[in-house]
Amino acid sequence: MASASSKRPTKGRADAAANTLARKFSQLGLETDADFVVHLPLRYEDETAVHAIGDARSGLSQQFEGEVVEQIITQRPRKQLQVILQDHSGRITLRWLHFYPSQLKQLAEGQRVRVRGEVRRGFHGLELVHPKVTKPDQGLSDTLTPVYPASDGLRQQQIQNRINEALERLPLQDTLPEALREQFELPNFAESLKLLHHPPRDVDAEALMQKTHPAWQRIKFDELLAQQLSLAAARASRRKQKSWPLIQKHGDLEQQLRKRLGFTLTAAQERVVAEIAEDLSLSHPMHRLLQGDVGSGKTVVAAMAAAQAIDSGFQVALMAPTELLAEQHYQKMVLWFEPLGITVGWLSGSQTAKQRAPVLEGVQNGHCALVVGTQALIQDGVEFHQLGLVILDEQHRFGVGQRLSLSRKGEQGEKQKRTIPHQLNMSATPIPRTLAMSFLADLDVSVIDELPAGRTPVITKLLSEHRREEVIAHIYAQIQEGRQVYWVCPLVEESEALQLQTAVDTYHHLAEQLAGVKVGLLHGKLPTQEKAQIMEAFRSGEVQVLVATTVIEVGVDVPNANLMVIEHAERFGLAQLHQLRGRVGRGAHQAVCVLLYSQPLSAIARERLKAMYETTDGFDIARRDLALRGPGEFLGVRQSGQALLRFASLDSDEYMIEQAQECAVLLREQYPEHAHAHVQRWLKGREEFLRT
Ligand code: ADP
Ligand code: MG
Repeated sequence: MASASSKRPTKGRADAAANTLARKFSQLGLETDADFVVHLPLRYEDETAVHAIGDARSGLSQQFEGEVVEQIITQRPRKQLQVILQDHSGRITLRWLHFYPSQLKQLAEGQRVRVRGEVRRGFHGLELVHPKVTKPDQGLSDTLTPVYPASDGLRQQQIQNRINEALERLPLQDTLPEALREQFELPNFAESLKLLHHPPRDVDAEALMQKTHPAWQRIKFDELLAQQLSLAAARASRRKQKSWPLIQKHGDLEQQLRKRLGFTLTAAQERVVAEIAEDLSLSHPMHRLLQGDVGSGKTVVAAMAAAQAIDSGFQVALMAPTELLAEQHYQKMVLWFEPLGITVGWLSGSQTAKQRAPVLEGVQNGHCALVVGTQALIQDGVEFHQLGLVILDEQHRFGVGQRLSLSRKGEQGEKQKRTIPHQLNMSATPIPRTLAMSFLADLDVSVIDELPAGRTPVITKLLSEHRREEVIAHIYAQIQEGRQVYWVCPLVEESEALQLQTAVDTYHHLAEQLAGVKVGLLHGKLPTQEKAQIMEAFRSGEVQVLVATTVIEVGVDVPNANLMVIEHAERFGLAQLHQLRGRVGRGAHQAVCVLLYSQPLSAIARERLKAMYETTDGFDIARRDLALRGPGEFLGVRQSGQALLRFASLDSDEYMIEQAQECAVLLREQYPEHAHAHVQRWLKGREEFLRT
């Protein structure tokens, strides 16, 4: 009895410690055995061998033994300890940026030590920074030592123990049947996992560290497969939803619209118009992304889709992310549709309740067949009579929630119960193939891969700020020729007020320098009406030079403007520069985009400017942008803080995405239970996160 009572507090402490540990694991998303077995090493440390210093290789984690032949404490650029270690084959530098007296003793000249760390190329040849120092001539480990992702207060040993328990308890069934493993040349799941957690002595260490080992390939494949399966499931569930098929009653609205355009559609536009028309005639909702580089002519494609919906007796909502862009669309739609007897409505945040009331009424009673606007379209109180199609321009600028809200508007109304409107998303930010195949694979994609005839690619010039005067002279010359010019003001990230001030200053400065030229200023803080007036003055040619902030980034369409100057171009993102440049080169005259930069340029800014100089192809730009920024930021989903893919990389594993896509189809069709188990294992409630 006595011993039992003395045990209790101990047990209580042990429980508390276990709880703390569980909490720390849970912060890493590790709760069940299934979570632990796929918590894989970030990297490995090689303690199986002592390498000759002469075999040191930059980038590898290696272990050496030798004698300290020199110990130096430098004071510049800052105090640090530098030690030269030597063995029979060579010398290597060890460096500590902070150190203790005990270390000076341990690393005194003449001492023998064993050190381990990642070899890097330093100023004076190969070096180890803050290596781990141990006694020499000790026994060696049998296998590579895995290093797991951890958080504060979690020791590697604790993680490893917990993983080992899980590996023993869990059956680790293979979610890929043998036939598919053979087809895609993949090793067995359990063996792969065990190898990664406990690499055998004779493993190809380099392949393991570079994640090219077959065991890693299997894990990466599994991860990509889970993604494909979840996207396929999303697609299948959409197929089960109901929409109204938009079959034209009269059939001539489209024809009439074509007559009003003043140009004929390109072959690429015709093709995507047909793809969309086909989707719209089906009884499940379209979920299509219309991709086309800036200036490829997406708006008219949207108008053709709208014509089909309206002709079928349904309403259409067209939503754009900025007021300026929405306003331009509105004007275009009025120009195209009103002469055909179609009422086009306008909804924006800056309207008064009084201005909005008649539009809301028209939308509700169905009189208004097409509504164009900003986020104001998804506000409460906007009710449709029969919404059949929603179109989102620059869709990546809207959140998932906003896209859904607009779609929900179509579920209101008596007749519409349980039906979902068709959805057309448009984007000028071309999505690299790998991204389209992975994160966006539940969207159908139409691509306009051709620019309207007569366009010549924009010539891009990179000029140092010192050459501003030359640029001013060039502006004069263009204006003499009757052309118009955009001058884009520098981004000031730190402060919006400062940004505005910069724009105002630039405007005054240019107006002064360009005597006799009509200069206008456009920025986000202007009242809507003033913005519209200035845009109109620029469109009509009354204003010759438009000084603007990035409000002109999307959608602005003035074909006569053929020169754009972007100040402090080094501060802009690549996608943004491409969008801005897309504002010129829309007319028949050769267009030029001048990127003014000021030194010093960061490495990444240099890459961006180089990309802009080298290519005008939006897809190429997007690919480079993806490489510079990574998929999370590219997709705008970084806020979740979670890595989108833990193991696979869109850069280096492209062929694997294709295989995973193919495998997902086979698995769903032939082995649905395996497919289910696979998604459970890899996604565990994260499916939503992968969707867009
Ligand atoms: P984006 O794809 O960037 O949204 P827009 O729809 O704004 O491009 O079109 C750019 C310009 O090209 C507009 O002035 C538009 O009227 C014009 N355009 C579109 N299609 C054609 C075409 N097939 N032929 C000539 N001009 C066209
Ligand atoms: Mg557009």
